[in-house]
Amino acid sequence: MKPDRTTPVYLDNNASTRVDPRVVAAMLPFFSEHFGNASSMHSLGCPAADAVKTARRQVQELVGASFDSEIVFTSGGTESDNTAILSALETQTGRDEVVTSMVEHPAVLALCEFLQKRRGVKVHHLPVDLRGRLDMHAYRQALGCRTAVVSLMWANNETGTIFPVAQLASMAHEAGALFHTDAVQAAGKLAMNLQDTAIDMASLSAHKFHGPKGIGALYVRKGVRLAPLLRGGRQERGRRAGTENVPAIAGFGKAAELAAAALDELPRIGALRDRLQQGLLARVPAATVIGDVENRVPNTLNIAFKFLESEAILLLLDRRNIAASSGSACAAGSMEPSHVLRAMKVPYTEAHGAVRFSFSRENTAGDVDRVLAAMPPIIEKLRNLSPPRSGDDVADPVLKSSYV
Ligand code: PLP
Repeated sequence: MKPDRTTPVYLDNNASTRVDPRVVAAMLPFFSEHFGNASSMHSLGCPAADAVKTARRQVQELVGASFDSEIVFTSGGTESDNTAILSALETQTGRDEVVTSMVEHPAVLALCEFLQKRRGVKVHHLPVDLRGRLDMHAYRQALGCRTAVVSLMWANNETGTIFPVAQLASMAHEAGALFHTDAVQAAGKLAMNLQDTAIDMASLSAHKFHGPKGIGALYVRKGVRLAPLLRGGRQERGRRAGTENVPAIAGFGKAAELAAAALDELPRIGALRDRLQQGLLARVPAATVIGDVENRVPNTLNIAFKFLESEAILLLLDRRNIAASSGSACAAGSMEPSHVLRAMKVPYTEAHGAVRFSFSRENTAGDVDRVLAAMPPIIEKLRNLSPPRSGDDVADPVLKSSYV
């Protein structure tokens, strides 16, 4: 089959989004005429300092923080997650345990694995059910007087499932623990008002909502002490050393402003996602939706095609110029379903054929039509190539997560 030369259909927005042209425009002056250091006193530094100030307010407004000083710029979601957890372990004297879940992003899980193995920190990995919902009983059991910090994500990057973070944060506070949420996949995908919650820290990443890569923030509620991850200069009030990445910060601010203004587009995005979901379920046999359909961010659809390998589906979609993704990672030469789907105990035969379609405000009804036209023949072709053998349905080996 010849590769498709039509306009690409990009449905991998949970991986990264296209930088909005208005964001690029907001960044450009800080590479050229306003190249000064934001900490300099002269007139070349002032526009840079002003841009950082404006961006801080724009991000504050997106997340509904009380003060702009609660926003600390970082290099992205990974740095924010690492900073939050390590800081809590340092500042919460007499407390040395971490509570997290089995479905967090590696930015949290790999750090927790390191802390557990190399620093002797006790980490509680909370289980989830088949829909990806947190086991609240296990959460109550795990919280205690040794808990330094709870780190639970707001929305899952693979399934879109939302954790009830406001409630979880209040419960953490009752146990005297700090509460951090990885809000990387929630920002811009649901309305946020951090000031109305007990959330102490929240991680953000600009490239998930049409901003540049390599820039993000950690929201740190006023009064919560932050032990810096990077020590050096006094940037970010001594909470994150290093010369500010002014072009990226200006772009992040603009992206946050645009995301806040586009929140009313979420129902349209949700309707596109739902049309794709319903269309696929109607046209493709043995397809199942993965995640909590009643409580997902509106842009994410994770759908499993039984007995197939998602990589083969993605390859054929790519030939039709459609970009989506799978949760699988190539571990030790074998394709294993993601740790998220394994934690949810999605049957092996389904998890292998899971495909994630993730939308942004740039997607159109035409994109959904293209996928709906492309998928049935792709699935039929692959099923004809390797029909399920008898016994496949019961071959559901329990795979151990590499993180827990
Ligand atoms: N947390 C979640 C839930 C994510 O989806 C990602 C990115 O995929 C990250 C953290 C890491 O963010 P960054 O790429 O900015 O380091």
